[in-house]
Amino acid sequence: MSVTLSATLAANEDIERRRRAGESVLHLAFGEAGLPVHPALRERLIAASDLNGYGPVAGAPALREAAAGYWSRRHLPTDPDLVVCGPGSKPLLYGLLLAIGGDIVLPMPSWVSYAAQTELVGARSLLVPTPHGEGGVPDPERVAAAVRRARAQGRDVRSLLVTLPDNPAGTLAKASTIRRIAEVARELDLTIVSDEIYRDLVHSPATAFLSPADVAPERTVITSGLSKSLALGGWRIGVARLPSPLLRDRLLAVASEIWSSPAAPVQQAAAYAYTEPPELVERVDRSRELHGAVARAVYERFVRAGVRVDAPQGGFYLYPDFTGLDFASSADLAAYLLDRHGVGVLPGHAFGDDPEALRVRVATSLLYGETTSLRLAALDAADPLELPWISASLDDLSEALTALRATRQASRSHVRLPLVTAPATG
Ligand code: PMP
Repeated sequence: MSVTLSATLAANEDIERRRRAGESVLHLAFGEAGLPVHPALRERLIAASDLNGYGPVAGAPALREAAAGYWSRRHLPTDPDLVVCGPGSKPLLYGLLLAIGGDIVLPMPSWVSYAAQTELVGARSLLVPTPHGEGGVPDPERVAAAVRRARAQGRDVRSLLVTLPDNPAGTLAKASTIRRIAEVARELDLTIVSDEIYRDLVHSPATAFLSPADVAPERTVITSGLSKSLALGGWRIGVARLPSPLLRDRLLAVASEIWSSPAAPVQQAAAYAYTEPPELVERVDRSRELHGAVARAVYERFVRAGVRVDAPQGGFYLYPDFTGLDFASSADLAAYLLDRHGVGVLPGHAFGDDPEALRVRVATSLLYGETTSLRLAALDAADPLELPWISASLDDLSEALTALRATRQASRSHVRLPLVTAPATG
């Protein structure tokens, strides 16, 4: 088994080590929301700290009902009995891989843990490239071909996964692509796992969000959680919306043998969060605006430095492409950026991308500041880009990108690639 410490967690630990040793590092590697806990949630957690029973495997009834309400308000009527809660959406995804069984189609690139978990459960993933500019969804036509080919070779492919909006690309698949992938899933009888943990962080209300559960409810599982929208990653709470009692029971069987139930006090606070009271709706709104403003500012710095990158649409990620620089792999590029320029990013290779493609994943959410008060100031700021610590980080990034380009522009072959001056959207 070749699974090692998750690339994102390993990079985070490496950067923290460098910082403790006095190095100045611009931390763009870790996908944490980088914002404080809302006081209303802290109060709910404290008030529930007496709860020390395990509780039901599927999760506390109050949490399942609240999560069902959350989806119902998003035009996905939900039976609380088909909601399963877990200690984060990551273990829920792992449980689903076991519960569904068989091989799984993954977008390429996609979040580091999908392929690693697939390997852990002894299955194999089929990596299918995403359509241009639409991270998070495997190209539907290529999925059909890949699944038919794999099945002809005797492989048992049972599911496909989408991430809406995407980590690493920071983009959102179009509604037409979701409709097509749902059709393909129906034709091939595949379960769809839709990871919608960034759904509430789609930056613009004008961006239409379509879940596969809207078009193929009979075969779509949605996973979500509060780690991103309310920055509760360390509280470890996630929810899944199952399409059938059969799959729910299989997931519950796995859950009962691995985590038993999520932490009881956390479930009470999460139940409150999923009722979406006004103060938390406001917090999510502000967070979304901050993530959008900073992700766009970082995007503009890349564009100005002549780096090709899709405009961010949701969450706090970018996936720039440094084609034209003189590096043999994305791992070399990421290591050089960290060692020479103090900029920590993750190589695209960690996301299943072609190791030689010079793409890296940039997380923008750790730029809000390192203390609770700086982060709160970023949340409250009318223009967070004017805050000195954020604007200084943006300038550091620009400087590093300019220096990188000056020193590592591919010249050995005497081909000077033109500077890309317009953003590659598409
Ligand atoms: N899915 C995606 C796409 C993610 O980026 C993350 C966190 N990095 C998760 C799932 C896991 O989140 P959690 O386990 O905290 O719910």
